[in-house]
Amino acid sequence: MSGALASKPYMIAADIGTTSAKTLVIDRNGVVLGSHSIEYPLFTPRADIAEQDPDEIFAAVRTGIAEVIRKAGISAQQVLFVSFSSAMHSLIALDRDLNPLTRCITWADNRSAGYVEPLKRDLNGHQIYLNTGTPIHPMSPLLKLMWMKDNEPELHDKTYKFVGIKEYVFAKLFGQVIIDHSLASATGMFNLRELDWDKQALEVTGVRQEQLPKPVPTTYILEGLNSAYAAEMGLDPSTPFIAGASDGVLANLGVGAFEPGKYAVTIGTSGAVRGVVRQPLTDPEGRLFCYNLKDDFWVIGGPINNGGIMLRWARDQLATLEAEEARRQGIDPYDRLTEIAASVAPGSDGLLFLPFLTGERAPYWNANSRGVFFGLSMQHEKKHMVRAVMEGVMYRIHSVLRPLEALGGPTQELRASGGFARSTFWRQLMADVLGTELTVPNTIESSGLGAAQLGLLALGETRDFSSIYDWIREGVRHEPNKENGVIYERLSEIYMNVYKSLRGSFDDISAFQQQNQGRN
Ligand code: ADP
Repeated sequence: MSGALASKPYMIAADIGTTSAKTLVIDRNGVVLGSHSIEYPLFTPRADIAEQDPDEIFAAVRTGIAEVIRKAGISAQQVLFVSFSSAMHSLIALDRDLNPLTRCITWADNRSAGYVEPLKRDLNGHQIYLNTGTPIHPMSPLLKLMWMKDNEPELHDKTYKFVGIKEYVFAKLFGQVIIDHSLASATGMFNLRELDWDKQALEVTGVRQEQLPKPVPTTYILEGLNSAYAAEMGLDPSTPFIAGASDGVLANLGVGAFEPGKYAVTIGTSGAVRGVVRQPLTDPEGRLFCYNLKDDFWVIGGPINNGGIMLRWARDQLATLEAEEARRQGIDPYDRLTEIAASVAPGSDGLLFLPFLTGERAPYWNANSRGVFFGLSMQHEKKHMVRAVMEGVMYRIHSVLRPLEALGGPTQELRASGGFARSTFWRQLMADVLGTELTVPNTIESSGLGAAQLGLLALGETRDFSSIYDWIREGVRHEPNKENGVIYERLSEIYMNVYKSLRGSFDDISAFQQQNQGRN
């Protein structure tokens, strides 16, 4: 420990998420001494729009820092640094005075969906993916800017800077318009190998390079904090702020999944599988993302829309009565669904569920895919359907993990997190379907811990991330059951074949659904 760490023993991590800003005070042993969370709304005036108010988020960050300092009972002089983690893919247009001309357009915004196919077909989209590592999808600022060029040309042209939410916060606090390499690598416009804006991407968006923030390493230190804001947050204006990175890559660091063969799997409402490689790697088939943390730390992986939300659907639409009865008895309905699923043999007696109820991202990025029960026969009951739903989510994870292993090497260990991990049954199911040992680290603040580790590196307090292992409290461990694994291996294969053979029909049924929306 250096002198600085002894006299300034506390680190602040601010995580700007999609639903809330979460601030933590962490001590040198990785113990979270205080946390504060402030939610903000998502505006969805139309089905394809998902925006937020940048100033509301900026205020939440400031209040969050002030509150967490107060809650932890520490003084401004004891704060070593403030480091950041942020949701990816957001876009805000700023004027010359760094005031917003738009709301914050979030990753969930779908207005640019019509640009995906033309970009892939006519504008060399696949090459742009190979350069930038961001899959071609409406979440990406690249697509949003293509949309803006056609639909709001004046705004597109007169915008001084296009930034994301964390860049906006820094612009306000420091008057500097910078973007860390990690968030830049999730814009779809950042060349991973040159670590600079990609010429081809700039061409298709029509954005001039000077309209974009200056890319800096994630360990970049911002100094010269606006003194009025410093006072409001209860910080000394000389406190260093660390540029930080995206929540996804910091979560890999924060759960200790950054060595070869260690993959992080998160299943909350949605889900993701991610691993770390030493240099930028993109997938020849465009299935996976590649995002930067630092020069020798690149996170590859795939996000899935249909994670825990599938069990929620089963709870609310399939097992309504059972869920209601559980509630009356004071039991969590998810626990009841788990019990129901556990009463059926592995493989649900040959019933498969393809959980594409909300379309899908990785690995095939097919917004038109839809849910399917396959193999239904007279012997199948509701309990089989519930188990098939839980198994189906794991086949999804399987289908992302396999291409990931092709780039990042075979799996040695999975580190799992998210709401699904509350169920022992579902965790074991994951180990069995994926045929791999699974651990659930006992931390819930993984992105915040990752941001703190990054801050220590930035200030030269540490040379690598190995101390994260002292910070993570080891949780439960699951060994895969080989017998069940044989069944799941066979069913995963059938699942993939069913998916592939339905591709054309998915387009047809989703077109039909769009045309007939709202009819009785
Ligand atoms: P979010 O991604 O919105 O932060 P969570 O990480 O809390 O959400 O995950 C919510 C999901 O976790 C639910 O949709 C459900 O599928 C799953 N889940 C929550 N509790 C349980 C439980 N007791 N058993 C099984 N699954 C659960």
